[in-house]
Amino acid sequence: MERTLAIIKPDAVAAGVIGEVIRRIEGEGLTVAAMRLARLSERETEGFYYVHRQRPFFGSLVKFMTSGPCVLLVLRGTDAVVRWRNLMGSTDPSKAEPGTLRSLFGTNIERNAVHGSDSEDSASFEVNYFFKGTEIVG
Ligand code: ATP
Ligand code: MG
Repeated sequence: MERTLAIIKPDAVAAGVIGEVIRRIEGEGLTVAAMRLARLSERETEGFYYVHRQRPFFGSLVKFMTSGPCVLLVLRGTDAVVRWRNLMGSTDPSKAEPGTLRSLFGTNIERNAVHGSDSEDSASFEVNYFFKGTEIVG
């Protein structure tokens, strides 16, 4: 069993597709182990995306991620990290495979609807970044 961190980003929350995204998570056989609606602060977002701090899109990414509420989830299941990444699709929605969440709900390479940890190590960092052990109940 693995855990991974998923985020339904502000664009997808604003578009009213929280339910659609969670339906697909459950349809894939992944379990929601923790979930919270949150309006991220700049500081929190900068810390979360620390690895991208030197990238040219960093400022814009932080602005986008703090622009409205998002949904933070811990997902659990066998190979949860890679299965959630597969369900999300490629970073750029125009290149994401048909039927993936980014293909369905993403707008562009920045406003791409969902986030997922990209390895077991980053999943461990990211789950602990947003959730206390006692909040992970599933
Ligand atoms: P995420 O980490 O959100 O799951 P990812 O792992 O597919 O996405 P990363 O390379 O980690 O992609 O980029 C993190 C986020 O930064 C992307 O999801 C997107 O919102 C934004 N981003 C990535 N590349 C660009 C770019 N070239 N221009 C603008 N925003 C970008
Ligand atoms: Mg990433």
